[in-house]
Amino acid sequence: MKKLTPFNPEDFLILVVDDIRKNLQLLIEILDASGYGTTFAFSGKQALERLEATEPDLILLDLMMPEINGLQVCQRLKENPKTQHIPIIFITASNETNHLVEAFELGAVDYVTKPFKTPELLARVKTHLQLKRTQDELERAYEEMKRIAATDELTGIPNRRSIFKFGKQEFELSQRYNFPFSLLMIDIDKFKTINDTYGHDVGDEALKMMVNITLNCLRKVDYIGRLETEAEALSKQGHLGRLGGEEFVVILPHTDLKGAYIAAQRLREAMTKETLQVEDKTVSITVSIGVATYDSKDKKMDDMLKRADLALFAAKKNGRNRVAIMHNEQLKLSH
Ligand SMILES: [Mg+2]
Repeated sequence: MKKLTPFNPEDFLILVVDDIRKNLQLLIEILDASGYGTTFAFSGKQALERLEATEPDLILLDLMMPEINGLQVCQRLKENPKTQHIPIIFITASNETNHLVEAFELGAVDYVTKPFKTPELLARVKTHLQLKRTQDELERAYEEMKRIAATDELTGIPNRRSIFKFGKQEFELSQRYNFPFSLLMIDIDKFKTINDTYGHDVGDEALKMMVNITLNCLRKVDYIGRLETEAEALSKQGHLGRLGGEEFVVILPHTDLKGAYIAAQRLREAMTKETLQVEDKTVSITVSIGVATYDSKDKKMDDMLKRADLALFAAKKNGRNRVAIMHNEQLKLSH
């Protein structure tokens, strides 16, 4: 993991809000001298306007101001998703401390009391900027880890865990609302032979080629029988995941058996039309596909996976480069 960024005041913009010009000037001078970027507002209203155009990293906010006071500004900023993450430090007079509980409840991170001591003010500003930045970096690292944990490294598509998670959600929707739902189990034919003959690099290329072709096929919108809206078409878009080795699954939400069969055939044919060039050799790569669709007797997605697996096995046994369907305890093979 990369190191946290070192602290540099020039990287930060601070908005200072105070209705008394003298206070404002002093604060700006102190921050400027330390190297921070600054911007300012003379009133709550002006602060809210400023925040529409700029995105400061921290706000020093005077508590007592005419019209819109600091607490009201704070409340508005915390209600707005665009500004709610900006840390707010209140500037208060010593006789205003009874408002501080409310300020913290509204989301303020800290306060300084007038007349403030410069080192203390700067220390608090720096602490909260560092905290915020560390928090942001941790959040980004966490998002990145989540992405990595859900992705197959070689092909960039969802891995077994994440495609099954998606599939289970779709399965539950089908159970509850009786939506059609299908899945394809796909296996690259004679993958071991490809690996043994040409090496693992070519095997990896074969996997990537298969993924690209499949994703292309899944993106094409089906216009079967009637025109579909774009939203309908998108909701039917298939999702490809790698289960491991040369085995893949496609989750097809809102797709019945016929639609799934058409998608499988289109994919199988597309694979036969492309080849992999290895030096002076042309390598053909084909796939076998097992199709299963949701049945109201199914208790869990595994029941569908088992049928798709049986169909895939039959497609392999009957010569490969085939699509097979397992439905109502019957097997249908087709080319
Ligand atoms: Mg004031």
